[in-house]
Amino acid sequence: MHQDAERVLLTEEQVLARVRRLGEEISRDYAGKELLVVGILKGAVIFMADLVRCLTIPARLDFMALSSYGVSSRSSGVVRILKDLEQDITGLDVLVVEDIVDTGLTLNYLRENLCTRDPASLKVCTLLDKPERRKVAVAVDYNGFTIPDEFVVGYGLDYNGRYRNLRDILVLKREVYTRPAAGDGGCAGGEQGV
Ligand code: 5GP
Ligand code: MG
Ligand code: MG
Repeated sequence: MHQDAERVLLTEEQVLARVRRLGEEISRDYAGKELLVVGILKGAVIFMADLVRCLTIPARLDFMALSSYGVSSRSSGVVRILKDLEQDITGLDVLVVEDIVDTGLTLNYLRENLCTRDPASLKVCTLLDKPERRKVAVAVDYNGFTIPDEFVVGYGLDYNGRYRNLRDILVLKREVYTRPAAGDGGCAGGEQGV
């Protein structure tokens, strides 16, 4: 386990087994259709890479990058699109792939934004869901794991850009986000990728 981790919440094996089942479920639900899978950068990248390889239906991939204004471990709901989709999604079956739904503010914004573009369908698949902290009710169609209100990293999820490459999902030690670390540039506020 990484020295900055308090404990392992989900092992790589647990995650991959669940991702495989999600892939099967999504493939069944969209049988006979082609999906446009939209990954939300950067947190969802590792999850998306594993998930799309578990799909047995045709799929195309696109990405969006969003930013949320607020402290680095919390989202404010003020969302800005840093990178938009490369294609028009009118008439397409779109599946948004997210790393984690926490307050729901980011996903709520995204759902409303993508809906205005008239996709044939719009569903959301998140790896993790933290329902205890929800501020806005937002539909999640596929959820890997419901987790308690703890800050997690690994398997794509970061703290200040770090830990995304760790294979397990880990609860970060509290002292890691309370200590002023070198190279973080003072992280009391500012714009953060989600
Ligand atoms: P929401 O808008 O639902 O509050 O927040 C979504 C974003 O907040 C996620 O995409 C993620 O960037 C960040 N976030 C929320 N909880 C966690 C967490 O436990 N770990 C990490 N690494 N990011 C989180
Ligand atoms: Mg995200
Ligand atoms: Mg983040």
